[in-house]
Formats: sequence, structure tokens, C-alpha cells
Amino acid sequence: MRFTDREIALFASIGIALYDQQIHPGAAEMLEDAEIAMRHAKRSGGNRIEVFRPAMRAQRSDRVTLETDMRRALERSEIKVFFQPIVRLEDRTIAGFEALLRWDHPRLGRLEPSEFIPVAEQTGLIVDLGLLALERTARELAAWQRALAVDPPIFASVNISSRQLLRHDLLRDVKSVLMRNDIIKGSLKLELTESLVMENPEYAAQMLMRLKELGAGLSLDDFGTGYSSLAYLQRFPFDTVKIDRSFIKQSGKGARPIILRSIIALAQDLGLDVVAEGAETEQDAIELYQLGCGYAQGYAFGRPISARDARRLVGAAPEAA
Ligand code: C2E
Ligand code: MG
Ligand code: MG
Repeated sequence: MRFTDREIALFASIGIALYDQQIHPGAAEMLEDAEIAMRHAKRSGGNRIEVFRPAMRAQRSDRVTLETDMRRALERSEIKVFFQPIVRLEDRTIAGFEALLRWDHPRLGRLEPSEFIPVAEQTGLIVDLGLLALERTARELAAWQRALAVDPPIFASVNISSRQLLRHDLLRDVKSVLMRNDIIKGSLKLELTESLVMENPEYAAQMLMRLKELGAGLSLDDFGTGYSSLAYLQRFPFDTVKIDRSFIKQSGKGARPIILRSIIALAQDLGLDVVAEGAETEQDAIELYQLGCGYAQGYAFGRPISARDARRLVGAAPEAA
């Protein structure tokens, strides 16, 4: 569908409830079941039809509570931004950090992004979470850069979801974050996945161009999980490519070095910095370095840590209380 000059993709998720005298005393109960089935359809990827099954009820209560919990969590600062080091393989120094969300839920304990980002994306709360990550990361990055005068400067990258990219407000948010924090141009990088960019390449290209003009860096996340080629993606103004950890994990198999080597070589020819995700062992780090990969991120170099620990690691002053 076209709306003015924008291409908009519309999908429908449909939930069906079948009348059952036992469990449906009235129309309201039936509607509720249909809604549960509809939400189930959305959660299973959308653009589909689901018929209500009683088992869906249990799942629904989880999701609905998670959603209300999340609004409260934002107010109470239960959702935090953690930072995982990205290391320069040449000398093993910290080149930057990736911001990753963690939720310390009062009842469920620490939740990983995979447990709450999908709900946040469906409810729109991802916009608030994204802004939290952006603002917090910019503030920390400014503190790291005050402490470390290195060339190239220490950088930070923040994940951006498709819902954020589709809003023009992202430009305004990035602009205001860059204005309010003293950050070296290009060192606050936005991470976008290949699938996100390919959803609407023309629109994405325009947005990326404008983000770059504002002074943001652009990093292509999880590269290799989609079907697009680096040569194609080179039309977008990325400065960094992150190779998905599935390529690094296949340790010992003969094909790994061949594919990895060609991705790395092509990225270099295209003038992109290369970060390998999921370097878990010293052996991974050595092999990646030998293949010409510039940077790596993974358990071999450290798991995501709190903002406070990250400051300590780079020798930055702790945040004033
Ligand atoms: P991602 O952007 O690809 O982030 C890398 C993920 O790999 C992180 O998972 C990280 O903890 C994990 N990882 C790092 N090193 C290793 C390793 O050596 N081995 C293994 N097995 N895993 C490693 P995490 O923190 O669970 O985040 C998962 C995904 O959630 C992220 O994938 C990203 O897509 C999303 N995410 C996290 N924070 C945000 C955010 O602020 N906004 C948005 N939109 N998405 C976010
Ligand atoms: Mg990422
Ligand atoms: Mg990734």
C-alpha cells in the first residue's frame, strides 16, 4: 500500500473463538478468547489466523503481566543498560562496547533481551527502551572519552529495532542525544540488522544517510544471517560490519575459515571495519586475527557488565551520585 510517498506493508492477524456453552456464558467471554487467539497469532510472527485453545490462556497471562510489569519497570529503573567490550585483536585493547539491555525483574530475576524485547516490540514499548539505551550509552561514552584520549576514539554501539527506524523521531532523538553529550563524531554507532534494512531498502537507505549526516556511526549487525550480500549492502552507509556468531561457532569445520576469510576480505576491500561476534575462546581470537579480522566481541573478552564496571574498566570517573 502507498501512503503519500511512503510504502506501507499491512498485515492482519486474526483470532477465532468457537462458541462453547460451558466456557462462554456471554459474548464478552467469547470476545476475550478471540482476542487471546489474535494476540497469539501476532506473537507467532503475525499475518496469520489462530483458533483459540485453552492453553493459550496461560501464555496470555504471562505476556500481559510482562507488559504491565515493563511499564512499571521503566519508571523504577529495573531495566538497565549493560556493556560488552569489543576488543581490537591486534593489541587486545578495548576499542568500544555494545550496549545490551538487562531487566532485573523483582519476581522473575534477571531477564535477557530475548525474553522481553519481542513483547516490547509488539507493544511499542521498544521505543522507550530504545531511547533509554541511546541516552544511557551516550552518557557513558562521553565519560569514557573524557578519560581516554586514544585515536581512533573509544566507541559505543546501540541496537536499533525496526519499530524505531520506522519513526522519524529516531532522527530527532539521535540528534538531541548527540547535542547533549560531548561525543566524537561517528563514535556512537547504531546497530541495525540486515533483515531490518532489507525490509524496506529504499526507506532504510534514506534514514541511514540522514543518521550518518547527524554524526552517528552505522554498524551492520548479525551479518550473514540473511540472504543479502555485502556487495549489495555496501550501498548503505555502514562503517562497520558485525559477523554473526554462527560463523565463528563452527570451530574445527573446514568451511569456516573459507567463508569467514572471504567475508573479512570483502569487508576490508569495501573499507568497512569488521567485528566478529561470539568469540568464545582464545583459539577463536587467534584464528580471527589470522584471518585479518580487526575486532572481536565475545565471552573470550568478557560478558556484558554494568555501566559502573565499564567505567572502572576504562578508568573513567564514577558517575556523580
Ligand atoms: P546482538 O545485538 O547480536 O547482541 C549480541 C548478543 O550476543 C548479546 O546477547 C550478547 O550477550 C551475546 N554474546 C556476546 N558474546 C557472546 C559469546 O561469546 N557467545 C554467545 N553465545 N553469545 C554472546 P543478549 O544481550 O542476550 O542480546 C540479544 C539480542 O537482543 C541482541 O543481539 C539484540 O538484537 C537485542 N538487544 C539487546 N539490547 C537491545 C536494545 O537496547 N535494543 C534493541 N532493539 N535490541 C536489543
Ligand atoms: Mg547488536
Ligand atoms: Mg549481533
